[in-house]
Amino acid sequence: MKIAVLPGDGIGSEIMAQALRVLDRLGLPIERQEAPVGGAGYDAAGDPLPEATLALAREADAILFGAVGGWKYDTLPRAKRPEQAILGLRKHLGLFANLRPAQVYEELAGASALKPEVVAGLDILILRELTGDIYFGQPRGIQTIADGQREGFDTMRYTESEIRRIAHTGFQAAMKRGRKLCSVDKANVLETSQLWRDVVIEVAREYPQVELSHMYVDNCAMQLVRAPKQFDVIVTGNMFGDILSDEASMLTGSIGMLPSASLDANNKGLYEPIHGSAPDIAGKDIANPLATILSAAMMLRYSLDQAAAADRIEAAVKTVLKQGYRTADIHEAGAKKVGTREMGDAVVAAL
Ligand code: NAD
Repeated sequence: MKIAVLPGDGIGSEIMAQALRVLDRLGLPIERQEAPVGGAGYDAAGDPLPEATLALAREADAILFGAVGGWKYDTLPRAKRPEQAILGLRKHLGLFANLRPAQVYEELAGASALKPEVVAGLDILILRELTGDIYFGQPRGIQTIADGQREGFDTMRYTESEIRRIAHTGFQAAMKRGRKLCSVDKANVLETSQLWRDVVIEVAREYPQVELSHMYVDNCAMQLVRAPKQFDVIVTGNMFGDILSDEASMLTGSIGMLPSASLDANNKGLYEPIHGSAPDIAGKDIANPLATILSAAMMLRYSLDQAAAADRIEAAVKTVLKQGYRTADIHEAGAKKVGTREMGDAVVAAL
């Protein structure tokens, strides 16, 4: 198994170091190579996604990514900004499926903005289509219309094949979890959504073991804060998924806990914490490495077919939380406050 390790900027290298220690502890035959990306890529090669980094990512079975971005790059022209690296990797590698689990560990239920009983034990997965929809549909633009005022317009489009492939990813993810899939659309108003719903229903015939339901996006936004535990896997388009996945991430309380994956059609993927490079806390050994460690677990599960190893990492994270270890972002009175490296130590010890 070959992985590309792209730590990036800010806290990227600190959190990545801990994820690599955890992977090493498993003793699996994983070959890994590191390359600069984001601001580090710009510093090294004048490009946020240097050619050599992209080549490495193409060759690998999976990519473990830290985070990119930093104040010193904020004034660069858009094409040279660190964030372009992620967009470039998604595009060049055909990463069309974004998986974002939102899990609330019993011990952290108090950190959520919702009542603990609403979220305790929550374990849902939001699957967002990443390369189509109104974000990419043509035509788009701002034009001047007959009465002289400006009009802005975008086009929501999905082809049948785009819907079919994300639906398959959704059913397959549900098969690995609780076997429930909720497809979210706005079929009462949008033609694109009507096609979405029709195609998802067709694909469902191939997965009789999965219970399929449909929900309008406005209702889903409401249900996510009313009774989020009713969901197992949610599959939806790019724009609805953008909004719902951020909403779902806040059910859990801390951005430092949440991993994500972006997959291609062959389950090759890029794995990263959902948070950014946190320049405000970089270099202080206080960042929470658990989102990156859990991203490594997702990598083992979805791209490297090592479900047992993924289970071990997830169990180790649960153990350290039970033992009371907390980084500053999830700290509460009475818990053992630890830094980035000490949290890595605790997970390695639990393994
Ligand atoms: P951010 O996620 O980096 O930070 C938001 C807040 O959360 C900060 O206060 C930060 O200290 C805290 N935080 C984030 N991760 C944490 C962790 N692991 N442990 C403890 N606290 C943590 O978002 P931002 O401040 O809006 O952006 C900073 C930079 O990151 C920007 O340059 C932005 O463009 C970039 N960014 C990159 C990605 C990515 O690489 N995928 C995603 C989002 C933002």
